[in-house]
Amino acid sequence: MRPIIFSDLDDTIFQTARKMPDGELEHATLASEALNGSHSYMSPPQSLMMDWLLGSTRFIPVTARSTEALERCKLPFDDYQVCSNGAVILMPDGTRDLEWFETTKGHADAAAESLNALLSFVQNQTVPDRFRCWIVEEFGTGFYFCVKSNEGADRLDEVEEGLGDIAGIQFVRHRNDNNLSFTPAAISKRHAVEYLAAKLLDEARVPVFGMGDSLTDLPFMATCDMLVIPRNSQIDRKILHSERF
Ligand SMILES: [Mg+2]
Repeated sequence: MRPIIFSDLDDTIFQTARKMPDGELEHATLASEALNGSHSYMSPPQSLMMDWLLGSTRFIPVTARSTEALERCKLPFDDYQVCSNGAVILMPDGTRDLEWFETTKGHADAAAESLNALLSFVQNQTVPDRFRCWIVEEFGTGFYFCVKSNEGADRLDEVEEGLGDIAGIQFVRHRNDNNLSFTPAAISKRHAVEYLAAKLLDEARVPVFGMGDSLTDLPFMATCDMLVIPRNSQIDRKILHSERF
């Protein structure tokens, strides 16, 4: 009877070199290779934590990464996996849950025009080369839009409002550090986690942990029995540091 852990990946169990605590990079373990060379690493305590969790729980990644980006992770995930903000659920054998995909594909198709409008706004109405942006695709379908600055995360201020106006209430906005993304509201980590939890807890009611760093992780974490956040994460800074205890 293993507890279930639904967990975000980036900035929760590993991070890029520039976000590593001082002095920890030299003892770090490579966790994921990035196409642009900005690889991700686990600190020694994160590495030990993952050995422990992978050995004693059903560890289920719940990530914005596409299935392709998730494959670049070095960790031996062998249970279900939630990719592209809930758009795709991979089964333990690595194949996608087709029934789930048909549902989310329908939502993505309905949002296709808006996704393209978000893309063309950044491509055509901003200073050239200041941003890079794309629509994250899975199996030929575009699911969500994301943009990053080439000149520092603050530059995202310049496009956030304009994109928000285009997106309206049909999209959920995520902004954390140099990531700004818009996902159709009908597609979410939370929906995927609820679907999987219903399926897995039917077999045995074990404790369920939700782990993540971003405010946009909270909706899925809130469906779990226990919520786990990394110190100095976006959630930590927003909720804990803004309150007096
Ligand atoms: Mg994260």
